[in-house]
Amino acid sequence: MKRSDLQQKARQYINGRWQSGVTSGLSENPSDTREVVTEYARADRSQAELAIRAAADAFPHWSQSTPQRRADVLDQIGSEILARREELGLLLAREEGKTLPEAVGEAARAGQIFKFFAGEALRVSGSQVLASVRADVQVDVTREPLGVVGLITPWNFPLAIPAWKIAPALAHGNSVVFKPSELVSACGWALAEIISRAALPAGTFNLVMGSGREVGQALVDSPLVDAISFTGSVATGELVLQGAARRRAKVQLEMSGKNPLLVLADADLARAVDCAVQGAYFSTGQRCTASSRLIVEAPVHDAFVAQLRQRLASLKVGHALERGTDIGPVVDRVQLARNLAAVASAREEGAEHVCGGEALQRATVGHYMSPALFLARPEQRIAREEIFGPVACVLRADDYAHALQIANDTPFGLCAGICTTSLARAMHFKRHAKVGMTMVNLPTAGVDYHVPFGGRKASSYGPREQGRHAAEFYTSVKTGYVHA
Ligand code: NAP
Repeated sequence: MKRSDLQQKARQYINGRWQSGVTSGLSENPSDTREVVTEYARADRSQAELAIRAAADAFPHWSQSTPQRRADVLDQIGSEILARREELGLLLAREEGKTLPEAVGEAARAGQIFKFFAGEALRVSGSQVLASVRADVQVDVTREPLGVVGLITPWNFPLAIPAWKIAPALAHGNSVVFKPSELVSACGWALAEIISRAALPAGTFNLVMGSGREVGQALVDSPLVDAISFTGSVATGELVLQGAARRRAKVQLEMSGKNPLLVLADADLARAVDCAVQGAYFSTGQRCTASSRLIVEAPVHDAFVAQLRQRLASLKVGHALERGTDIGPVVDRVQLARNLAAVASAREEGAEHVCGGEALQRATVGHYMSPALFLARPEQRIAREEIFGPVACVLRADDYAHALQIANDTPFGLCAGICTTSLARAMHFKRHAKVGMTMVNLPTAGVDYHVPFGGRKASSYGPREQGRHAAEFYTSVKTGYVHA
């Protein structure tokens, strides 16, 4: 996958064939905006409909494939991704701006996810045989594939998020139409290119690149698409939900977060600062699980802020491929403008500026910004709205009860963390945080791939993703009665 190959080959994959788009687009390197990462094919609605039709035609074949065949296909994809993790990580770092070690780690994770679901294909769970309440009747409960699944993904994890949707969809016998975010079309294409060589029947897996409003919306609207799995912003998620509900399609949404990290007075402060730095600022803060609210008990508030400020000053913001870079660039100029506007708005509403939040110049022209920290109050916008950049605020809490109340006072409910040496507090927090995932003495961002992922309230809708729980979305339950 050399750069020249990419520029020729980032095409749609529809019904087992590579196809040109109706128009084309360019994805650029956010570390060096002079570099085009790829020229990619852009579909329109009618081309998306061709992909959907191909997936619908392929479904009867793939849905009846044996578990062994599905396992072999997924295992082959996973092995190739793992073998090429460095190369895929390099592409990801160039296109999305994650640092190279983060990007290689993400590529490896995508491979591990395919391997995990290769195993799951062999043990489709949930089947039960029960005695009926009636004499001489037996009841069984089985899981079946859904049909065509439309997968719409964001730019911030351009290999891992598609992997954790595509792998379970195929493992459970569904056919797939995958639409990546336009900003990361080369990553979407690279994944599709590996999948295209995995002996799937034509039409079982399709890639359509293009705008969400046209291509994504075509997936949402099509009566041939049985289910939609979406990850992205709340605003788009609501459109997807309304469109899917109108025609009663199954839908799963993973959206935004404003995740709290509590730091209690008894915490190991060095560890708490480390959790805050990793959780709030690594991956340029562009993670739905980022800890953008740091809720600190009064006795350690000032010491925590002082240590965090010192750590932020030592972080190197720079080119994603440069050795030693801690924080890569923001993904594009639109997101950078959004982040800088959020910083300006925080100042205007009276949040106390501690450090950072400025656009930076580097040797190459890119979307660089320094990590920003504010002291805020819970009602201020900086403490309530997702920014999706390297910006966090510290909120002072009188005691643990107050900290928990602040943590839960948000429309979101994805992930929440606590740093404490008290087992009792940790257990209480795990039980009472209104979120889908909790962390004790760990950053809020950074999860395992074999267990459920997702949240509550405005952060998520529908069954959880990943792990064995993925079966709940990607299958339909059937109850059978037999009179002996
Ligand atoms: P976004 O703007 O909502 O876009 C997400 C995807 O939806 C993209 O592929 C986009 O296409 C597509 N889309 C746009 N309009 C559409 C429409 N009308 N119908 C169907 N699809 C449409 O989100 P983003 O900026 O890419 O990603 C950042 C957001 O994702 C953040 O809010 C973050 O919290 C969230 N996120 C959540 C999780 C989670 O698991 N909870 C994980 C990662 C990210 P184009 O943009 O290509 O046009």
